[in-house]
Formats: sequence, structure tokens, C-alpha cells
Amino acid sequence: MAKYKLEYIWLDGYEPVANLRGKTQMKEFASFPKLEELPMWGFDGSSTRQAEGRSSDCMLKPVAVFPDSTKKNGVLVMCEVMMPDMKTPHPSNSRATILDDPGAWFGFEQEYFLYKDGVPLGFPPGGGFPPPQGEYYTGVGYKNVGDVAREIVDTHLDLCLDAGINHEGINAEVAKGQWEFQIFGKGSKSAADQMWMARYILMRLCEKYKVDVVWHCKPLGKDVDWNGSGMHSNFSTTYMREKGGKEYFEALMAAFDKYKNEHIAVYGPDNHLRLTGLHETQSIDKFNYGIANRGASVRVPHSFVNNGYKGYLEDRRPNSQGDPYKIASRILQTIATVPTK
Ligand code: ADP
Ligand code: MN
Ligand code: MN
Ligand code: MN
Repeated sequence: MAKYKLEYIWLDGYEPVANLRGKTQMKEFASFPKLEELPMWGFDGSSTRQAEGRSSDCMLKPVAVFPDSTKKNGVLVMCEVMMPDMKTPHPSNSRATILDDPGAWFGFEQEYFLYKDGVPLGFPPGGGFPPPQGEYYTGVGYKNVGDVAREIVDTHLDLCLDAGINHEGINAEVAKGQWEFQIFGKGSKSAADQMWMARYILMRLCEKYKVDVVWHCKPLGKDVDWNGSGMHSNFSTTYMREKGGKEYFEALMAAFDKYKNEHIAVYGPDNHLRLTGLHETQSIDKFNYGIANRGASVRVPHSFVNNGYKGYLEDRRPNSQGDPYKIASRILQTIATVPTK
């Protein structure tokens, strides 16, 4: 038997964006614990905006397990928050009620800024700006990426791979101090669990660098020429990959147009600051699609058209602070309104 450090991680009750929370308990297991072996656990919901002080217990229900290579016998446990009856999902528990389908694949491109002393890494500490955007995207060299960012993103990649997270890649982004990682998962819950865990691992890793991850979609504001952060959501269903076709694609896009407001509602807060029509975005109140068009709401990859309108599509509207549970579910909800043959 060995003592495992079980770090239970959940989303709190803050609005409009939940914070990640985590606390650790020790349990003995003969080998690395399986999900079914992990017990439910309680926490003080009055400290996380999930309960009133008088009856403050909420329950944590383990839903996914990841090895934590940063410590001996470390385990990262993604949890759903439940009411004290242990059966009813807490109102803040977005995961419990989402649509899921193992045939639905999601690739999330998470953009974010690394901040130190109140400014993005590489910005002058007391105010002002570094040279304008241009060479930072996928850039190399101290003047473009500074001295610690690459160590952070490379370590994050390794920690995610150790955890079994399907991390697919990283790149320096358009703004100085801005980065991206991509995660691919099958099923909306699985893909989104991995995304939340990857976010947690990154925030925890950054502590020792005195760096914070800023997930806001337009941290420098909309009036300056600095990019915002998105979480482009690439998606495909079994039908889209195997059957597809132009007629189905056009019906799908008509449904996305019809439900554009419902999509925007769950695509992250303050998106009007980011979806302006500039910086490779479409305006928030318009819906369009285009082949290889990075100024469209939905980008249609060349491969999709070349394969007879089969494959995946990229919804470019979700932002960096969006909840991947809600985003994936909304995409599936709209897809479900379109008849298949
Ligand atoms: P770009 O920056 O050009 O928009 P990326 O390479 O950053 O593209 O991201 C493309 C994403 O598409 C990846 O996250 C990948 O996992 C995802 N993807 C690839 N194929 C599929 C598919 N069939 N279904 C869903 N997502 C997919
Ligand atoms: Mn990308
Ligand atoms: Mn990007
Ligand atoms: Mn993209």
C-alpha cells in the first residue's frame, strides 16, 4: 500500500467566470487509484459562493483522474460539485447537465496571457508598450518571448502529457506575453475535463515564477492594437466526418446563424471587446462562415471542402475565459436541430 495525494479540483460559484479550486487529502491504495475507488468529499461552500454560512457543506464527486508528476504519488481529481444529498448537482455544476456524445470530437485552442507585476511578460513594468505586434507570433529570441515564458509553456506541455491530457501543441501568440496550447478530446465531457485540468496545471505551475495566467479575452482593452484571447473550438461529429456533404453543411451553418445569440451567451464574458471585426475576428452581432477565413465566425478548413464537405469546423467565437463544458454542449445542441439523412 502507498499513500496517494489526492488533489480534488472543482469549479467554484463565482460569476460570470468560475475559479478553479483545489484541496488535497491522503488515502492509501495498492496502486494508482481508479476513478471508482475515489470517495466523495466535502468542502465549505460558503467560502466559494456555493452555499450560505449556516448550512455550508457541498460535496465533491470525482469524475476524472490524472496522474500528477510534480509529486510522489500525486493524483489530480476533477470533480463535480453536488448538493449535500450527494445526488443533486449544485446549480454551479455546469458539467452535470451538458450534452455528450463520444462521437463528437473537440479541439480547443486555448489562448492566454502570462502576467507579471500587473503587465504581460515583456511589457515595461511601469507602463508603456513593447514594439508593436508582428514578430511575436510563433517567434523566437529573447526580444520576442523573453526569458521564462518558454520554460513555463514547455514544462506545462510535459506536465499535461504526464497527466494523460491530450495536449496537442503550443505556440507563441500574436501579442507579446501571449501563448496558446491546444487540447483534443473525444466527447464533450472528456475534452472539457482535460481543458480545465490543463488550465489548473498551468496556473499552479506559474506560482513559482511569480507569474499569473490572465484568461480574460481582451486584457489590454479594445482601444489598443493588441490581440485578444480566444478559445477557438474545432468540432466534428461522426456524421460530419463520415457523411457530411454540402447540403448538410449549409443546413448546419443556417442553424448556427439562427442560434448565434445562444452561442455567444456561453462563449465567455466580455466577448464584445474581442469580437470587433478586427484582429482576425468577426463582429459579435454577425454570423458568417468562410473557407480558410480567419475573419469569419466559423472557419471552414480547406481539407473540409476538399473531402466533400466532410471533417471538422472551427468556431472562432468562443473566448479564452469560456467554460468548455458549456461551449461544447451548445455546439452539440445546435447540431442536434439539424436533420441527418
Ligand atoms: P489554427 O491555429 O490554424 O486555427 P490549430 O492547429 O491551433 O489551428 O488547432 C486545430 C485544432 O483542430 C486542433 O486542436 C485539433 O485537435 C483540432 N482538430 C483536428 N481534427 C479535428 C476533428 N476531426 N474534430 C475536431 N477537432 C479537430
Ligand atoms: Mn491555433
Ligand atoms: Mn491562436
Ligand atoms: Mn484557430
